[in-house]
Amino acid sequence: MATLQDYAVDVRPTWCSGCGNHSTWNALKRAFVQLGYEPRDLFMVTGVGCCSKMNDYMRINGIHTLHGRSLAVAAGVRLASGKKVITVHGDGDGYGEGGNHFMHAARRNLGFVDIVENNQVYALTRGQVSPTSRLGFRSSTSPGGSLERPVNPLALALSQGATFVARGATHDMMQLVELIVAAMQHRGYALIDVMQVCVTYNRAMPYDYYRERAYKVEEVEGYDATDWNAAMAFALEYPATERIPTGILYRREDLPAYEEGVSALKAGPLVEQPLRTRPLADIDLLLREHM
Ligand code: SF4
Repeated sequence: MATLQDYAVDVRPTWCSGCGNHSTWNALKRAFVQLGYEPRDLFMVTGVGCCSKMNDYMRINGIHTLHGRSLAVAAGVRLASGKKVITVHGDGDGYGEGGNHFMHAARRNLGFVDIVENNQVYALTRGQVSPTSRLGFRSSTSPGGSLERPVNPLALALSQGATFVARGATHDMMQLVELIVAAMQHRGYALIDVMQVCVTYNRAMPYDYYRERAYKVEEVEGYDATDWNAAMAFALEYPATERIPTGILYRREDLPAYEEGVSALKAGPLVEQPLRTRPLADIDLLLREHM
C-alpha cells in the first residue's frame, strides 16, 4: 500500500510561498494514497501554467505537453495505456488555448480527471489577463481593466454533456481531497475547476476572498448532484455574482466512458496487446508498404 512518502521526490517546488498550488499538490498525493494507488498506476499530463510543474514535484508517470494540448495528449495516454490519467493545467491552457479540446473531452466522456488550476490570470508568463479573469481585472495586458466577460467553465462543461462537474478551492485542501477521490472513481470525464490563489499576480483574490464567498453545494437544502438544472443554476452563480458554489455540482454514472466503446480496446489497453494482434497496427506490413 503506497504512502505519501512513495510520491515524494527530492525536488522542492519553485512556486511562490503561499501559492495555492501547494494545496492542490498535497491534496493530489493524499487522494492517491487514500484510493490505494501506487505511483505506477497513474499518469499525469500537464500543460502550461505554474501548476503544470506538478508532475515534476511528485513521483509519478508524466508528460509536460504543449500549451493547450493537455487534453488531447491525455486522451491518447488513456486509450493506449489504460492507466488512471490526471491532467493538471492552468485556466489559460484549459479554457483558452485548449478550449476546443475541453469542449470535446466533455462531450466524448473520455475517462480521465481534468484539474484546472483557475487563478484567473496568466501567472507563469507574469500576469496577463486570462479567459477567466473578472471584468475590470487590471493586468499588464489590461492596465485599464479587462473589457472581456469571463468564460464560465462549469456552465460550458455542463452544456457540452460533461458527466462530472466540480469546483474546489485552494483554501480548503480537505475538500479538494474529497473531490479528487470522487473524480478518480468516476467512469468518464471529470472536471475539477480549482479556484487557485495566486499571491503574486492576482492579489485582489487572496485566501480570505474565497473563504468569505465560497459555500458547499451539498449543504444546500434539496441538493441533488444528478439534477442538471440545479447544477447549471449553481454554475451560473459565479462569476455573475459574488457567491462561489463548491463541491460536486453534477454527477451521473449511467453513461459509459468513451473508451468502453472502442472495439480495439476490448482485448485490453493497447500497450498490453501483442503487436501483431493489434487491429490497427501491423508495423511490418506498414513498413513493407512504404519501402
Ligand atoms: Fe503560484 Fe502565482 Fe507564484 Fe505562479 S506566480 S507560483 S500561480 S503564486
